[in-house]
Amino acid sequence: MEVKKSKKNNIISLKKNSKCPTCKKISREPFIPFCSKKCANLDLMKWLTDEHGLQIKSD
Ligand SMILES: [Zn+2]
Repeated sequence: MEVKKSKKNNIISLKKNSKCPTCKKISREPFIPFCSKKCANLDLMKWLTDEHGLQIKSD
C-alpha cells in the first residue's frame, strides 16, 4: 500500500489558505473551505444533484 506525501501537503495547505472549490478564490472565515455562503450553497447543490441524479440549470 502506498502512502502519498501530496495528501499530507494538501491538508496543510487547506488550513493555511485554501481556495474556494466553487470559484477558486481564497477561502474566508467562517465559510472555509469556501469564500462565501453562496459558494458553499452552490457546492451543496452540486453535491445533491450528483447524489440524486437531478439536473438544475444555472441559467
Ligand atoms: Zn467562492
